[in-house]
Parts: sequence; structure tokens; C-alpha cells
Amino acid sequence: MRERDLLAHIYQRSANDRHASVAVGPGDDCAVLRIGGAQVLVTTDQLVEGRHYHSEDEPELVARKAMARAISDIAAMAGRPTAAVVAATLPPGLTNGAALVDRLRESAQHFDTPLVGGDVASSTTDAPVVITATILGSPHPQRGPVLRSTARVGDAVWVTGELGGAWSSAPNDRHSKQHTFVPRVAEAWSLADELGAELRSMIDLSDGLGVDAARIATASGVRIELDAAALPVSPRLAGEWRRALSDGEDYELAFTADAGDDVRVALDRVAERLGVAITRVGRVTAGEGCVVHTPDGETLGADDLGWEHG
Ligand SMILES: [Mg+2]
Repeated sequence: MRERDLLAHIYQRSANDRHASVAVGPGDDCAVLRIGGAQVLVTTDQLVEGRHYHSEDEPELVARKAMARAISDIAAMAGRPTAAVVAATLPPGLTNGAALVDRLRESAQHFDTPLVGGDVASSTTDAPVVITATILGSPHPQRGPVLRSTARVGDAVWVTGELGGAWSSAPNDRHSKQHTFVPRVAEAWSLADELGAELRSMIDLSDGLGVDAARIATASGVRIELDAAALPVSPRLAGEWRRALSDGEDYELAFTADAGDDVRVALDRVAERLGVAITRVGRVTAGEGCVVHTPDGETLGADDLGWEHG
């Protein structure tokens, strides 16, 4: 079974699970809960040895990535992280457990997200290490949580930073983006500040812009059209725009916003103040799925261009 089919199964099954404490259930970057009159964001993310990191990677890099990926989902809703709990399944004998737990704590502190609990267990076999980070957060008080499902026909599509080339096939590559990215919490918060309701929908780019933009399109019941020539391709990829769509692990923000000039001016302000590129890469139209217009004038389906975890 493909990951997207299992997720579709989960979303379909949970669609009718109404509960007073749930504002947003499965299918977005975070769930949104109502707790004591406040809205609370919650997300969880697994890092699997051999799949999301190299077995040889230092605990420091593994811990940082586990925390940063999960916090990126809070950024995707324009929230701020409040606290983390982490569960780790370790080899028999809890090999390297103390080092990993120490690095997780340091990494959480680095991202200003206190680590307040968790669980450790040992596997009975030669199973891979699995680290599961769960983050609680609070949404922007005026804008509220920014969902995937609220893009509108006529919106423009934007991305932060550069795309592609984040994953390194070399172990312990401390300079690869997967080990250096900072979740776009400050940027997302500023977007919510500056754009308010004109910030319509958002997602963080974990699997590649093609797949992730299609997730906004599906959740919102719209079509997203990307322009290959407009993509902010990482300089290390020498203009390979397909990889900018499909490599994944960018942890940039993709968002849709009103296409008006006031939004463009506001985005220039955010870009300048935070020192981040914000690039218009496409538009929201009527229809479904995600397509990319190539420099040769072709139109390709982009939904399948991203990394899909099997
Ligand atoms: Mg996400």
C-alpha cells in the first residue's frame, strides 16, 4: 500500500469523528484542539534509522533533525512551539541511549521548545532506531491556525527559501540542509502578522513542492499550477527544476495568499526584515491536483514528482 492511500483511508475514516474538543482532525500539518478555552496545536513525526537518517550519523545530527522536522509542522500552521515529548525505540541494551537523549534535550532547548517528557524502549531484534517527536504549539492569536484546506481560486502560490538538494547521501554531512535548516517558525508568524486573513493556506515542504502543493490542492478542492521557470532552485542543483519539485526535505513554507499588490508589498517587508527569499511560483485555479508548466511550454502532472514514503 502506498503512503498516500493509507493516509486517504485514515482521513476518510476520521471525517465523521466529531468531538467538541477537536477543531481540526487528521489531514493537516497539525491537529487543532480546544483545551480550556484555548486552541492548541499538536503534531507527531517519526525519524527512522536507515530511512530518514544514516546509521552512521552522529546523535547530535539525528536529534536535531527529529526536533526540527516536527517543529516545522507547527510552523506550517503559523504557530509557535510550546513543548515537546519524545519517544525513542533503541537497540537491545539501549545502546547510545544516554547520548541520544542528551542531544534531544539540547536540540529542544536550541529551538526554544522545552522537552517535558517521553518514553524509551528497547527493541528485541535488530530493528532500526525510531525517534518519535510530538510537539504542542499555540496558533497565531489574531490569524489563528493556517490550514491546508483554505486555498481559494485566484490566490498566488509562494515559497520561502530555496528548493532541492537538501538530502545528502553522505553520512554525517553537517553542511547538508537536512541537518542545518531552521524550521520557519518566525517567518510563518510574520506572514500571519502581515497578511492576516489574506494568508489563505500553508504547508511545510517535507516531501517536495510537487507532492506538498498537491496536498493543499486536494484539501482545498482546487488546482495548483506551478511555473518551473519561477522556482527558486538551490544553486547546488544548477537549474535542475525537477529536483526542486521532487527532492523533498526542504522544510520551507509553501503558502497561498491573495494575489493583490498589497500582499506583494507585505511579503517584500517580511522578506527584507527576516532575510529570507519569498518567491511567487504559481497560482490557484479551478480544478484538481498540481501541474507544472515547463520552460518548454509543456504542462506536466506534478503530484507524483515528490518523495513518497512507501
Ligand atoms: Mg508537514
